[in-house]
Amino acid sequence: MHHMTLAEIARGLADKKFSSEELTQVLLARIAQLDPKLNSFISLTPELALSQAKAADARRANGEGGALLGAPIAHKDLFCTQGIRTSCGSKMLDNFKAPYDATVVAKLAAAGAVTLGKTNMDEFAMGSANESSYYGAVKNPWNLEHVPGGSSGGSAAAVAARLLPAATATDTGGSIRQPAAFTNLTGLKPTYGRVSRWGMIAYASSLDQGGPLARTAEDCAILLQGMAGFDPNDSTSIDEPVPDYSASLNGSLQGLRIGVPKEYFGAGLDPRIADLIHNSIKELEKLGAVIKEISLPNMQHAIPAYYVIAPAEASSNLSRFDGVRFGHRCENPENLIDLYKRSRGEGFGAEVQRRIMVGAYALSAGYYDAYYLKAQKIRRLVKNDFMAAFNEVDIILGPTTPNPAWKLGAKNSDPVAAYLEDVYTITANLAGLPGLSMPAGFVDGLPVGVQLLAPYFQEGRLLNVAHQYQLNTDWHTRTPTGF
Ligand code: GLN
Repeated sequence: MHHMTLAEIARGLADKKFSSEELTQVLLARIAQLDPKLNSFISLTPELALSQAKAADARRANGEGGALLGAPIAHKDLFCTQGIRTSCGSKMLDNFKAPYDATVVAKLAAAGAVTLGKTNMDEFAMGSANESSYYGAVKNPWNLEHVPGGSSGGSAAAVAARLLPAATATDTGGSIRQPAAFTNLTGLKPTYGRVSRWGMIAYASSLDQGGPLARTAEDCAILLQGMAGFDPNDSTSIDEPVPDYSASLNGSLQGLRIGVPKEYFGAGLDPRIADLIHNSIKELEKLGAVIKEISLPNMQHAIPAYYVIAPAEASSNLSRFDGVRFGHRCENPENLIDLYKRSRGEGFGAEVQRRIMVGAYALSAGYYDAYYLKAQKIRRLVKNDFMAAFNEVDIILGPTTPNPAWKLGAKNSDPVAAYLEDVYTITANLAGLPGLSMPAGFVDGLPVGVQLLAPYFQEGRLLNVAHQYQLNTDWHTRTPTGF
């Protein structure tokens, strides 16, 4: 039962082959048995799950339908869930029970999805390895000595290990696409503004975007359908009609113009990954796509710009966690300053403290122009590169990551080495564009992802290309041994 995709579950439930309650019991048992190896969950919500499953079964018995009605999922632990711990992977929020549901959580619950629990993540979504969580590192089911990617590593490891079919995640600089690549999943970061950020604990507000992690493009379409849409509670949410994503899957790729940036294949890319990307290009050519070399000349400046803008926004967003308004409070403070210092010093981990310091520095009076303003100008150049490219092509294709998943601990002493791994993903966030990563093969037994980028609001095009690719390849069907 645990091998079923969301689409298969929807068909099984509609045909009364099993109930949502039965499926939920099976998956809860599987999580209890296997998650100790992975550490992919921070909180489990079996009582909520079983009551939601029963309610979904009752709705079906009353003639209701829908692909998410009775479908088991989990939420990354930065989506607020009413009455349930919402920790953001941090000691700071270890005791925080959200007083309301995030829009994404409420929409999926209304569609009938069943919440099995809250998944592990890098603290405040800062990281690329899921090693900065207060609740411990997550392991990659493909090799337990390797990281699953981050910051949505818990959602990715759980779905890859068949503990559940799909999960929500968020992507500020790659945190949906990179863990998808590292665990052989399909993950989609929507256009900025497509999915409400209301109730999603902010890391960098101008970059953060929620989206689906699943095994197939077909399942990403189902989950995105339940997440997307205008939300008056989020001032950056865009009032644009939500298309039927599942209906977009079957379009022909005949004549589709795919741009391959020459900058993507420079030094730093594992040549074995380059080979796999070229194989996936050939596969898409067989389906009728036309390949064109393009250039994204400002790509080399994207990492430094991102690692100024994201920490700058984080330093501002995280100022609310001061032990007074929100978050962990130290014992017996001597005075107000002592309260702030010790609450924040004890509540935040090392990586979060590093980002707050970098961000506060970049925003400070003497350095604002030199760092923050400069980074914003680079952001515009990166966006302009994409706008020019999309005048010539329909999709941009390349690797999701320069290397496969590294060993646990391998980059802990050198944060910049980890930042450099984000080279292919962060440009989409800087420009606000949608991007998708899908399975493209293996290197040393570890999964590799191919990334597709599209113009604003063309999530349907990304899902279409990925689905057609998945109808003609079987990388996405591979299962990690032991799971
Ligand atoms: N690895 C990037 C960072 O650490 C992206 C994280 C994310 O997308 N949340 O900032």
